Amino acid sequence: MAKRTKHLKPEHREILTAEVLASKRVSPNFVRVTLGGDGLASFTAMGYDQWFRLFMPGRDGSLSLPTSASTLGWYAQYLMMGKDHRPLVRNYTVREYRAAGFGEFGSTAELDIDFFSHGDDSPASNWANGAAPGDKVGILDEGATFQLPDGANFALLVGDESAVPGIAGSLRSAPRDLRGAAYLELPDPADAQDLGEPEGVEVHWIIRTDATAEIGATVAAAVRAAELPATGVYAFLAGEQKLVSGLRRFLVQDREIPKADITFTGYWRVGKAAG
Ligand SMILES: Cc1cc2nc3c(=O)[nH]c(=O)nc-3n(C[C@H](O)[C@H](O)[C@H](O)COP(=O)(O)OP(=O)(O)OC[C@H]3O[C@@H](n4cnc5c(N)ncnc54)[C@H](O)[C@@H]3O)c2cc1C
Repeated sequence: MAKRTKHLKPEHREILTAEVLASKRVSPNFVRVTLGGDGLASFTAMGYDQWFRLFMPGRDGSLSLPTSASTLGWYAQYLMMGKDHRPLVRNYTVREYRAAGFGEFGSTAELDIDFFSHGDDSPASNWANGAAPGDKVGILDEGATFQLPDGANFALLVGDESAVPGIAGSLRSAPRDLRGAAYLELPDPADAQDLGEPEGVEVHWIIRTDATAEIGATVAAAVRAAELPATGVYAFLAGEQKLVSGLRRFLVQDREIPKADITFTGYWRVGKAAG
């Protein structure tokens, strides 16, 4: 099996400009926004769970982008901008990238983002719901984190709805002979998507039938009850902070998976805005 051992970081950091080409609701709770424009010509698609910082218009409706793309530089400039003028910045995943000439809407490269719609007090989710062709955004590529270690022969991928794009990208890019299991929690079975998984990976859609249940609790219970190989497991955990930190602890303590063989990322936190 082909192995990847490195966290993939972009070779070049730059805040690119892009514009909305199209937007559509693909299922009850997901809106797909397609970005394009000449600025995307410098975007290098890496596959897997490649993610980026998305800069959207700020409170005053304008889009002001930092000129620095260094990790500390862009953020310092962002803070200097003042609350009304600074852009709205959130993290998103490349759901699909189509090179120039292979697009659905025009001649430039195209990048799809799947936004989970999660409530009225959520600026990025609201922006996606109202996104219209011509709207401008900025993109700062941050690379991919899915990294199958040497010796792993089984991948366990777990996430809530915010991680559907990252798990889909990872499964689509993974070696075709990968074996494993993916557990994804959704509020509605109609939100399930084709993940392009290798034949040896079983996909389990875990539906949150109890509307009062904490997001992530249902999928966490399913994983705790799952049978896993005794050795050679690589785990990729993404989604609500408590889900990923709790499951990581469980996998390390109860299933004896080495910490180094677990990639875990808190995508969001209950009751806490990301900005
Ligand atoms: C690396 C990375 C990649 C990501 N990729 C994607 C992606 O492709 N698609 C996607 O939809 N999300 C993705 N996310 C998650 C997304 O960045 C957060 O959900 C973000 O907080 C949304 O911003 P917002 O302005 O809509 O809400 P915020 O202003 O951040 O939060 C407002 C309120 O909504 C709650 N909230 C935030 N996110 C969620 C959620 N998903 N479900 C329920 N309640 C929530 C918060 O607790 C808060 O109470 C990713 C996060 C990371 C770190």
